[in-house]
Order: sequence, then structure tokens, then C-alpha cells
Amino acid sequence: MSLLLKGGLVVTQDASRRIVRGNVLVEGNRIAAVGDTPTEADEVIDCEGCAVLPGLINGHQHAANALLRGIADDVPLEEMLERSFAVDAKFTRRDVQLGALLGCVEMLRCGTTSFQDLFYWEDEVARAVRESGIRGFLSWVTLDEAFTTQHGNPVRNAEAFVIKHKADPLVTTSVGVQGVYVASEETCLAAKEVADRHGVRLHAHLSETRKEVYDHVAKTGLRPGEWLEKIGFLGPNLNVAHGVWLTLNEVRALARAGASVTHCPVSNMKLASGGVAPVPEMRDAGVAVALGTDSALSNNSADLFGEMKTAALLHKATRWDARVLPAQTVLDMVTIEAARALGAAADLGSVEAGKLADLAVISLRRPHTTPFYSSNVISHLVYSNRGSDVQATIVDGRVVMADGKMRTVDEAAVLERAQESARELLGA
Ligand SMILES: [Zn+2]
Repeated sequence: MSLLLKGGLVVTQDASRRIVRGNVLVEGNRIAAVGDTPTEADEVIDCEGCAVLPGLINGHQHAANALLRGIADDVPLEEMLERSFAVDAKFTRRDVQLGALLGCVEMLRCGTTSFQDLFYWEDEVARAVRESGIRGFLSWVTLDEAFTTQHGNPVRNAEAFVIKHKADPLVTTSVGVQGVYVASEETCLAAKEVADRHGVRLHAHLSETRKEVYDHVAKTGLRPGEWLEKIGFLGPNLNVAHGVWLTLNEVRALARAGASVTHCPVSNMKLASGGVAPVPEMRDAGVAVALGTDSALSNNSADLFGEMKTAALLHKATRWDARVLPAQTVLDMVTIEAARALGAAADLGSVEAGKLADLAVISLRRPHTTPFYSSNVISHLVYSNRGSDVQATIVDGRVVMADGKMRTVDEAAVLERAQESARELLGA
């Protein structure tokens, strides 16, 4: 099966960040050629007036929480968690699968082709991933048994999940850790041991709020990042979400270990986490930084175009420096840098022959993106475009959405089932 994306402005995100006017030829699940390509293919998508991008990568999500959108706005994190736990306790496996499917459809519509998810019942999220055709980096969350609603031991559950989903083309499993506030040294190290033994990655929340940091200092004498280094948790297979309250010492510790960060500016701002993650310092230290939307509870959107714009503006505004986090850097954070942050840069993050065919086609023929040309397309993607401008999404060589229509699932039915399920959960 071959696919030709014809006549677009290809934002390659390759090492020299070339923008090429031409085609992208896909054979099977890989990109076969970029630029001047053969023009025969089983399916041709006309990309005239569009940018062709590497599919965007969302570095931090709890996709199933799409069902909880809008139930806890305008309150701090602690109160949001309280409200969500009350509903979460009623979640059935079916709710998780349905919520995740809704989240996957939302992401695919916005040109997101990969996401990193942190949740329990990730096997249900995996089902939603396969049904929708998105690529999932799925991290089964672990925490101390005393704090969990999971049946059985969370670390054993995570290990069973990792074993069960090996060699799945769309699902890459990993082991999650909720955060130092509910995970003891024993739990953190058990999670790491499982990840290392199975050769998979780790994903954890880290230093999202000041309370988390102060409580941990009171308990251990060390800040969370320092403590994780001391117990030997940091390593090149670790990606941490947030990192709002990291000191430069902690940033250097992450860099030394080869760990990466997912920056979630909208969620941090909405929950008034205060402070701003030291993203420029992370990047200067050599830490790969991805962008993540976090869940619908604290965003409430999974549109990475909105996230890019917010990231750029947040750092400029708070540092009084218009040059900080320029558009190209921010685009990198949802493409090639995000792929690096997930340990997947050999296969994802740029439009180059040999890489997996995860692509997004986005219209530049909109009032808000006119005029467009090669030299302003990066600016448009970060500051002007929005997810609803995405025309087609391709994952693993398969056209998942085209002409604004989902091909893998009956979208209307997914929305209806999600609406019904939320009504039952919330009594709304
Ligand atoms: Zn989170």
C-alpha cells in the first residue's frame, strides 16, 4: 500500500530544518521519499495550500480523563484532584476505554499522532489506541498500595501490562510513577527495576507544585529531583512531566542522567502552579524537552497548536524577553525534540525517508494564515494555526483522518457514547 501527499509545503524538521515544496511518498508504514518523488500511488492526498508536518507528539496525557472535561475548573490542583477522585472512583473499565477513545479522536483531529499517557487500566487505553489508530506511549501508573484504588499491587500490574503488550506496532509500554508524594523509595525503585529489566521507559510527575516540593523537603531533607537522584531513580529512560519547581541543580541532575522533561504550560497556568518551568535552562543543559497538554481536567483541550502558542508566550512574558523560545524551538518541542524525549527519535519526529509515516496535513488557506510562504510557515504553525485547521492525519502509514473525516471510528457514535457515559457518571 502506497500513499502520496502531493504538492504541499513539507516542514521536514530534519537536522537542517529544511522546508521543501513537493511530495511525501509513503510505502507501507514508512516514509519512502520526500520532495521530488514518483507521482503514482494507491492513494493520493492533494496537499496544495497545506503544510505537511511530522505528526505531533503530546508528551503528557491522561486520555481517559476526556470524560471529566469541565468538572473542576477554576480551582487549585488539590481541589481538582478531590473532585476528580470522587468521579474516578466510579470509573468502570468501559468508562476508561470510552474516555480514552474520545481523547484519541480529539488528538487525531488536531494532528497529534503520538501521545504519552499515565493512567491505571492502560490495557483499556491500549484498546482505544488500536481502535482509533493513534500511536500510544502508555505508562501504567504505580504508587504505594496505601494510596491506590487499583486492585492488586500497582508495580505488579504495571509489569503484567508491559509483558502483555510487547511487540505491538502502535503501543509502546512503560512504567509510570504518580509522584514522590504517593510513591515511597521502595515503590520508585521497584518501578525502575521493572522498567530496566524489561527494557522499557519510565514516566513520572515531578515538582508540579510548591507544596509537593516543600512536603518532600520536610520529609527527606531533599527536593524531589535531588532525592530521586540520590535513590538512583534518574536515568536515560526517564521522562518527567511538569518540572515547574526545579532548581538549576536539579536540572543539571536530570541532564547528567540523560532524563527528559515534558513541559505542560496550560495545565500549570490553569492550576495556578505559580512559577514557570525553567525550560530555557533545561534546553541549555542538554535536556530534551517535550510539550504536553496534560488531561482534559486541567487544560481542557488536547490541541498542541494552542499549547505551542501558550508555551512561547508564557516564557516571553515572564522573562521580559521576546527572543526566548522562538517559534522553531517550540515546534521542535512537539516534533523532533518530543521524539527524543520519548527515546523514539530514530523513528519519529521528522519527515525523512526511512522514518515511520506519522504525518499531519494542515491548511494554510485560512484567513488567519494568509499570506503564507516558506519563510513564515513556522510562525503560522505556532502563532496562527489551530488544531481545527488539520485536514489529514496519518499514523503508521494509515490515513486515520482525511477531508476532516475520521476513517477509523464512527466519530458521531463515539461522541454519543461518551456523552451518555458522562451523564451516568456525573448524574448530569
Ligand atoms: Zn499529569
